[in-house]
Amino acid sequence: MKVCKFGGTSLASADQIKKVFDIITSDSERRIVVVSAPGKEHDSDTKVTDMLINMAESFLSTGNCEKDLMAVVNRYAKIAEGLNLSDEIVKDIENNLRTRISLGYDNKDKFIDRIKAAGEDNCARLVAKYFNSRGVSAKYINPKDAGLFLSDEYGNARVLPQSFKNLSKLKNMDGILIFPGFFGYSLSGEVVTFPRGGSDITGSILAVSVEADVYENFTDVDSVYAANPKLIKNPKAIPVLTYREMRELAYAGFSILHEETLAPLFKKGVPVNIKNTNKPDAPGTMIVTTREVKNGPVVGIAGAGGFVTINIHKYMMNREIGFGRKVMWILEEEAVPFEHIPSGIDDISVIIRKQFLDEDKKSRIMERIAHDLAVDSVSIGYNLALVMVVGEGMLRRVGVASRATTALAQSGVNIQMINQGSSEVSIMFGIDEKDLDKAIIALYNEFFEKN
Ligand code: ASP
Repeated sequence: MKVCKFGGTSLASADQIKKVFDIITSDSERRIVVVSAPGKEHDSDTKVTDMLINMAESFLSTGNCEKDLMAVVNRYAKIAEGLNLSDEIVKDIENNLRTRISLGYDNKDKFIDRIKAAGEDNCARLVAKYFNSRGVSAKYINPKDAGLFLSDEYGNARVLPQSFKNLSKLKNMDGILIFPGFFGYSLSGEVVTFPRGGSDITGSILAVSVEADVYENFTDVDSVYAANPKLIKNPKAIPVLTYREMRELAYAGFSILHEETLAPLFKKGVPVNIKNTNKPDAPGTMIVTTREVKNGPVVGIAGAGGFVTINIHKYMMNREIGFGRKVMWILEEEAVPFEHIPSGIDDISVIIRKQFLDEDKKSRIMERIAHDLAVDSVSIGYNLALVMVVGEGMLRRVGVASRATTALAQSGVNIQMINQGSSEVSIMFGIDEKDLDKAIIALYNEFFEKN
C-alpha cells in the first residue's frame, strides 16, 4: 500500500487535480491520499491557507470578514467549475466556513487554527467529490473520526501516540481514502494544526500507521537537488538520500519536506519517494535508511539565516561543575529551545533561532546569565547563518573539512564557528548572514563542480 501526499501546487487548479486523479488511479496500491490546501497556481496567487489566515485576522480585528470569506469561496468555486462539479460542493464549502466563524472563540489561537484548517478540510471534500464524479469510489475521511489526536499547541501541534493505533484501522477500509493534511484534534475536541507546511507530517503519520510500503510525497519539482536551484543553476539531482541526510538538509533550509516529517518514518523504516505531480513517471528522490556511497562524500549543501548566538565567557569555566546546566536551566525557564552549544575552555556559545527570543526574554536571559552565573562577559551576536555540508560519505573520510574551509576562505567568507556531530553526517559552519549565498555557491562548486 502507498500513502500519497499532494502539496498545494498540486491542488491549485482543476487541471492539477485532474493530474492527481490520473496518478492515483494509475496504481491500485495508491490507496490513501493526503491533500494540502490549494496553493499558488501563479506566482501572484495567494495560498488558500494564507487567505484563511487573513480572513481569521479580519474577523478578530473588525468582527467582519465577508470579503475574505467570499475570496476563499470563489477560489474553490473556480476549481469546482473546472472539474465540472455542481454548485452544491461550493455551497457546502461556504457553509463550512460560516460555521467555523460562527462558533466564536475564547482564545485567538484556537480560532485561527479552526479557520486555517478549513483549507485542507474543504480541499479533501472537493477532491473526494471529484473522484466520485469520475466513477471512482473515494471517501473523505475526517481526522477526528479516524482518531488523529494532537497536543493542544495551536499552530505547532505534535501527534499523540494513540493516533498511530487509531489510524492503523484505515488499512482495512475499502476504496480510496482522501484525508486532509495539516490538522487533527486535541483530546478536548478542538481543531489543532501542525506548523506551516505540516500536511507532510500528516502523510508521514498515516504512512507509519498503516505500515505503507512507501510514502509518496508529490510536489512540483523533479527531485531533491544538491543545493537550492534559486542559487545554483541546474544543481545536481539527488536520486537517493538517507533519512539522516534529509533531516540535516531540511534543518538548514531544504524546504521540500517539512522538518518534522521524517521522525516517525525513520523509526519504522518506511521509505519516502519525493515525486513531481507534473512528471509522475520520473523516479524522483528516494529517502531510505541506508544507501551505498557512490558519488563523493557530500550529497548536498544547505544554509539558513535567522540565528542569534549568546556568547558567554568565564575564566575557569571548565572547572565549574554544573555551569552548562545552569545556562540551560535559564533558557528552559524562559521556554527558549537551543540549537547548538559550541564551547571552548572558558567560553560557551548558545545558538538560538531569532524567533524564540523577543526583547523581553533577551533582557531577562542576559541579566540572569550575567548575575546568577557571575560570568566575566556575556554578549549577543545577531545575523548568524548556518551552512551545512551533508553526506554519509564523510564518515571516516579524511580532508572534507579542509576542502570546505579552503573553499570558504578562497571566497572571502569568515567562519565564526565549526561544528561536527559524532555521526559525521554533516559539518556545520556558522557565518555572517550576508555571506550565506556566497558560501553555498563556493561549497557547491568545491564538492560538485570539481571532478
Ligand atoms: N496548507 C498549509 C500551509 O500552507 C499546510 C501545507 O500545505 O502543508 O502551510
